[in-house]
Amino acid sequence: MENKIKIVFATGNPHKLQEVNEIAQGCGVEFILPPDNFNPIENGESFEQNSIIKAQEASKVSGQMSLADDSGLCVEALNGAPGIHSARYDTTPQRRIDKLLKNLTDTDNRKAKFVCVMTLTDKDGEVLAQFTGECHGQIAPKQSGTNGFGYDPIFIVDDYGITMADMSEDLKNKISHRAVALSKMIRFIQENL
Ligand code: IMP
Repeated sequence: MENKIKIVFATGNPHKLQEVNEIAQGCGVEFILPPDNFNPIENGESFEQNSIIKAQEASKVSGQMSLADDSGLCVEALNGAPGIHSARYDTTPQRRIDKLLKNLTDTDNRKAKFVCVMTLTDKDGEVLAQFTGECHGQIAPKQSGTNGFGYDPIFIVDDYGITMADMSEDLKNKISHRAVALSKMIRFIQENL
């Protein structure tokens, strides 16, 4: 039987855990949830800082090696907003989408990218590695699709011409910012741990 390396994944969201375990399938790594008292204060000023804050908090409460991701949508015409504030740009997922589309009504530049920064810390919270993944695209004129979450219905992926919410879960897990960052991290884990 395969002897998997177990790593705490710094999230309270079981759906995200399932997503990273699907991406990591067959790689000899298994991600597990942190204890219930995992409660990071995400007050960093960048994806990098917030990703470190979450990984270190997970190491602290679990006493184990931990991996965290911090992600968001950066829109060129909005100077990178909503960026690290993506989850709090407005009060509900639909309101966040509506606000973004409204804020782009006066521009033709709809370039955007999803960014994900992953940080691995050891059991004492020391940073072992950090990798970034990006997925480039355009903000759609109107939303389309029901798969995924967050801004997926308004993000048209370059080279595919459809929104992330119109993609299958399998395809998103191959090309997403999270998949790109996690592939780099898994390579690091396989070569160094
Ligand atoms: P966090 O990394 O869990 O803090 O997520 C930040 C926010 O960015 C999410 O709540 C979503 O609004 C947005 N986001 C991050 N990744 C994705 C994605 O893959 N699709 C759609 N929205 C995303």
